[in-house]
Amino acid sequence: MSTSRRTFLQRAAAVGAAALAGHSFLPASLKASARAAGGPLVIASGNGLAAVAKAMEIIQQGSDALDGVIAGVNINENDPNDVSVGYGGLPNEDGVVELDSAVMHGPNHMAGAVASLRNIKNPSKVARMVMERTDHVLLVGEGALRFARAHGFKEEDLLTDRSREAWLKWKENMSKEDAWLPAHGDSDSAKDIGDLFEPYMKYTGTIHCSAIDKQGNISCVTTTSGLAWKISGRVGDSPIIGAGLYCDNEVGAAGSTGRGEANLISCNSVMIVEWMRAGKSPEEACLTACKRVVEKNRQRRLQDDQGRPAFNVSFYALNKKGEHASASIWDQKQYAVHDGTSARLLPGAYLYKK
Ligand code: ASP
Repeated sequence: MSTSRRTFLQRAAAVGAAALAGHSFLPASLKASARAAGGPLVIASGNGLAAVAKAMEIIQQGSDALDGVIAGVNINENDPNDVSVGYGGLPNEDGVVELDSAVMHGPNHMAGAVASLRNIKNPSKVARMVMERTDHVLLVGEGALRFARAHGFKEEDLLTDRSREAWLKWKENMSKEDAWLPAHGDSDSAKDIGDLFEPYMKYTGTIHCSAIDKQGNISCVTTTSGLAWKISGRVGDSPIIGAGLYCDNEVGAAGSTGRGEANLISCNSVMIVEWMRAGKSPEEACLTACKRVVEKNRQRRLQDDQGRPAFNVSFYALNKKGEHASASIWDQKQYAVHDGTSARLLPGAYLYKK
């Protein structure tokens, strides 16, 4: 075995042991050199009020920001009532829940991700394992599931009755030409599940969470069940480093929710971090990202009658100084913040009002 390979394996083993023991795997040298400016601070998408509270609790105990944000989003992943993340997430077109998640750790600038992962309700934990226990960044589908199994993750059915019934309603109202019939008296229920415009607005959801810990180190996570009724194997922006999330320990972190296809073609999380590095505030950087999505949205079918996007995308960002913001293309969406005093929802900036 080559020396570098052996060194890598030794380091990986040490990292894994530390992670299993519940400790940060951050090398002491990095901890010592990190600046405490701006922290502790946690931000998340609007569904993350409980998540920011949990993340802050863990960070206040002295843990690494990554431990905090993952524990935070695990609340949403485990919650059957959050139909956009983890257990109970809305399924793909075949009625199967497929999850995407990524984590990024600022101090050592490493990342891990999984996509199209079935049967495991905490994809964010598997994403962390990819980062810590493989030489890779992204595992997908069957390979990701086998990797999760190898690490002892338990398989379970992620489809709740609520999500199955929503999927069935969608399927039965897709077409009058196919053999799936809606329940008697339910033939106009396409109205309930959205018309041509609304699906892009309604069937999204995800949680992004970024944090600065007491040492001033930054990490982030994004986790989702993706777009409802997607084609099996579809991967959105959430598990793609640079699109659905990004962090740089010297600058800040950013993440996204909303129509992933629109963000995948312009990779805005890395752009937001780079715009902050160049001097933009988190809000200016998030709004610039929204404008970029609008500018790159050239397909008529994805525009309203004024040429504006027929979908929403939201961005979240914090910088090393502890400034934070969110911005959306449409309307004033809220985002969650905990700055060490309390968890609260704040209004985000936006481009257009509905
Ligand atoms: N961005 C996610 C995706 O495209 C979905 C969402 O945030 O609603 O998979």
